[in-house]
Amino acid sequence: DLKGTFTLHNGVQMPYFGLGVYLSEDGEEVANAVNWALQEGYRHIDTASIYKNEAGVGEGIRQSGIDRQDLFVVSKVWNGDQGYESTLKAFEDSLNRLKLDYLDLYLVHWPVEGKYKETWRAMEYLYREKRVRAIGVSNFLQHHLEDLLADAETVPMVNQMEFHPYLVQQDLIDFCNKNTIQYEAWSPLMQGHIFEMDIMKEMARKYNRTIAQIVLRWDLQKGVVTIPKSSKKERIIANADIFDFELAPEDVKLMDGLDRGKRFGPDPDNFDF
Ligand code: NAD
Repeated sequence: DLKGTFTLHNGVQMPYFGLGVYLSEDGEEVANAVNWALQEGYRHIDTASIYKNEAGVGEGIRQSGIDRQDLFVVSKVWNGDQGYESTLKAFEDSLNRLKLDYLDLYLVHWPVEGKYKETWRAMEYLYREKRVRAIGVSNFLQHHLEDLLADAETVPMVNQMEFHPYLVQQDLIDFCNKNTIQYEAWSPLMQGHIFEMDIMKEMARKYNRTIAQIVLRWDLQKGVVTIPKSSKKERIIANADIFDFELAPEDVKLMDGLDRGKRFGPDPDNFDF
């Protein structure tokens, strides 16, 4: 059942499993991916204005015929739009492209120095005005969160971070858990590199599952929301087939132990976009 959810600190139910659409092309490609996912039982779609595919995501949602209230749609404010007024405008632009009248979750995409607190004030406004059911951040390390929390009126409901067996950041997960911030994984499949790992091939054989299913199941058992990306129908379907088996605790530990602090994406302390 793809309808498993985690409860955010404001009581909103966030489906544990979603579809990522970074690098899915706007138009037919992303619309099909979204529609196939929704037909399969996915209810959570993760896009961003910088992905330039919000229009196609909206198209896929409408093609699916599924009630808006049953969906969990996420977008993000891009770095160049950070600041108070510009965030409010970026939000309306995203809604217009999606052809929706609210979002379930809106995220600050990256912690842009000197800007993210003003951006957060705009996020709080959107939340107060009920334009969005939850607000959160992405790529915020502990020091960014501490700095934000010092002035925030609303604690972010979510922190979406690069997360996979080579980048666990357990201290950050613990910090988020302590502060009621739901942890969420981006690039859960290591942008495809997970499929090259011998140890993952072994685990897949052991459980008679695909490597993707093993790592996404690990996310679930660690309490981390996950949003694997694919635009291929068979993969979209297979990736989500993780609700009828369980990893033994020692295998969860084994996977935790693969951590080597290795990023495939940018460093939140040193990005230049
Ligand atoms: P991912 O780890 O989900 O990997 C996607 C890659 O794996 C694609 O190349 C896909 O073709 C391949 N793949 C998927 N299923 C497969 C399967 N079953 N077998 C073989 N290959 C398979 O990478 P991602 O897209 O970077 O991350 C997922 C989502 O996270 C994104 O789509 C986006 O929504 C989000 N994201 C957010 C940020 C952020 O800064 N907040 C950054 C990157 C990604």
